[in-house]
This record gives sequence, C-alpha cells and structure tokens, in this order.
Amino acid sequence: MRPARALIDLNALRHNYRLARELSGAKALAVVKADAYGHGATRCAQALEGEADGFAVACIEEALELRAAGISRPILLLEGFFEASELALIEQHRLLCVVHSAWQVEAIERSALSKPLTIWLKLDSGMHRVGLHPAEYRDAYQRLLSSGKVEKVVLMSHFARADELDCPRSAEQLVVFEQARGDLQAEVSLRNSPAILGWPSVPSDWVRPGIMLYGASPFEQAQEQAARLQPVMTLESKIISVRELPAGEPVGYGARFVSERPTRVGIVAMGYADGYPRHAPTGTPVMVDGQLTRLIGRVSMDMLSVDLTDVPGAGLGSRVELWGRNVLASDLAQACGSIPYQLFCNLKRVPRLYS
Ligand code: PLP
Repeated sequence: MRPARALIDLNALRHNYRLARELSGAKALAVVKADAYGHGATRCAQALEGEADGFAVACIEEALELRAAGISRPILLLEGFFEASELALIEQHRLLCVVHSAWQVEAIERSALSKPLTIWLKLDSGMHRVGLHPAEYRDAYQRLLSSGKVEKVVLMSHFARADELDCPRSAEQLVVFEQARGDLQAEVSLRNSPAILGWPSVPSDWVRPGIMLYGASPFEQAQEQAARLQPVMTLESKIISVRELPAGEPVGYGARFVSERPTRVGIVAMGYADGYPRHAPTGTPVMVDGQLTRLIGRVSMDMLSVDLTDVPGAGLGSRVELWGRNVLASDLAQACGSIPYQLFCNLKRVPRLYS
C-alpha cells in the first residue's frame, strides 16, 4: 500500500474542544463543516458526541450525513437554507438554522411548520458577507418570534478580522452588534476560533470553534492560548527512493532546485494530488526520522523531494512528517501563502486512520 496517510488523533480533538469551552466559559458548537476541515465529519462528531453542546455545518447535506451516522446532538446550519422547501427537512431532523436574509424570514413566516424552530439570527456587523442589516435586525427578530414558527432566537454575528490581534475592526463590529441588539434578551454567539483564543472579553453564551478544534492556530504570530492546542492530524509518508547527486544537478520539474554541494535526495510518496501545497518553496520544513530537514524542488502530483544530506541514517522507508506536531500546518501554510484551513480542506486520496 502507498505509505501516504493522515493520522487523526481524536483525543487531541477532545482536548481542543475542552479548551474552547474552558477559555470561553460558554457552550460550544463544534464546527465540523467541510468534512470537519478534512478530518472526517462523522468520526469527529462521534468522538465529541458525548460532550459537545452541538455541531455546526455549512448546509443540510452535511447535517443529514451526521444524523445518518447517529449524531443526535443539536446541529446548526451555518448558511441556513437555500430554498424554502428545505424547511420541512430542517423540522424533521430537528436542525438549528441560521437566518441571514429577509427572504428567509418571509419563508419561515409563510411556512407550514408544525414544530417551532430554533433560529440563529445573523447580523452583518461589518464583514459584509451574509447577515441582516442592523436597521432590519430587531424587526426580523420580532417577526420570527411572533410568527408562531419559531420558539427561540439566538443572536449571532461573525468577525472578519479576529485573527489580527492588533486590528480595531473586531471591537468596531462588537459595537455595531451591541447597538443592533439593544435590549433584546436572547443568547448571543459571536466567537470563532481566533475570537475564542484572542478576544476574551467578547460576550458569548455560545462559541463556534472550527480551526482550533483541529489544533491549528488561526494566527500568523505566536499566541499564548493557541500554544495550548494539540494538532489533530499528522500527514505522513515514507521515503520511496534515494539519489546521490554531485553539486550542480537539478531536482524535479522545472529544475527549480540545483544542488550546491553533493546532496542526498529522498523522494517521498506525497504530492499535490494528496493536498500537499504545490507552491511550498524549497526550504519548507519536513521531518524525516524525527529530524527536521527541508523540501527541495517543485512538488509534483504524487511525489516530492527532501534533502537527506544532513539526516544521517535516513533512507528507503524512513518516516516523513509533512505536517503534524513537529511541522505545524499553520507554519507550512504561511510558508506557501496559504492558511491551515485550506491545507486541511484540500486533503485528498490519503487514507485517514483514527486513534
Ligand atoms: N462561525 C461561522 C459563521 C463560520 O463561518 C466559521 C467558519 O468559517 C466558523 C464559525 C468557524 O471559524 P474558525 O474555523 O475560524 O473557528
């Protein structure tokens, strides 16, 4: 079998979930959308089912996958519904639902729901993606509660720049939220991972941790609380071929690396078809047999090359960590102009093994 694989540590996932709760002092919806950021939504939700206050997914298809796997905790649809016809399924499967647009409020008012829903009413406090305008927020709240189709409304909004710790934008968004909320007596949910880790004073009854559950920091710089996260995924493979090159020889497509000295090159069964970023530059850290070394040359579809010159003893069959506890996904992402979210979500072809 090809040695490329992703090891998923479910104890680390539970540790990170508990950290989100501890830091926020709030109830936490574990965000398992996009197949739990590439970690496997069903397995991750099952691992948290005993303790999670609930889960959040992007859409109804993802929620139904969890229900089919036996997940009975509350599940929130972060994008709400796309067509009014979805409301019947939302009712049938007891899903919580974000409402972010006026047409959704009207669809709920006109619906034939027999059991009232719990709605998370999303305010656009400044991200300008989805969410009700502050001027229409309170009216939407009142209409939903008086429609007879809704039993509870949670007030929510989403930060655009919480990962930038010196940026005033989150505080500005909070002011917009507080003004729109006024004296409404309802539970509040504002914080994603960077806000849980880095913005302790933001009020929350509910938090929505995503990337931190998987043990990756949302910040570019070191951050005290993020250092407590445990990486959940280790992407690993093995050396499948070794070349001894004299100085002056190119390696890989486009000859982007040329050896400056006699170089031992290890070829690893891992490529961009597995989700390893093609744009990772020469020098990107890679761990071989427990020692840090560097990627060299271009990443190809199924293979990449590493420098073994200073890793004595490494050779055919040596274990390679592409990201995990020693090579942090957030560091790798930064090295190639990406974010750990995208690295995880891009994972393909590689079997996931759970422990
Ligand atoms: N809440 C909402 C509305 C989101 O869209 C997301 C992710 O995109 C999250 C929470 C989780 O964010 P993070 O992964 O940064 O914790």
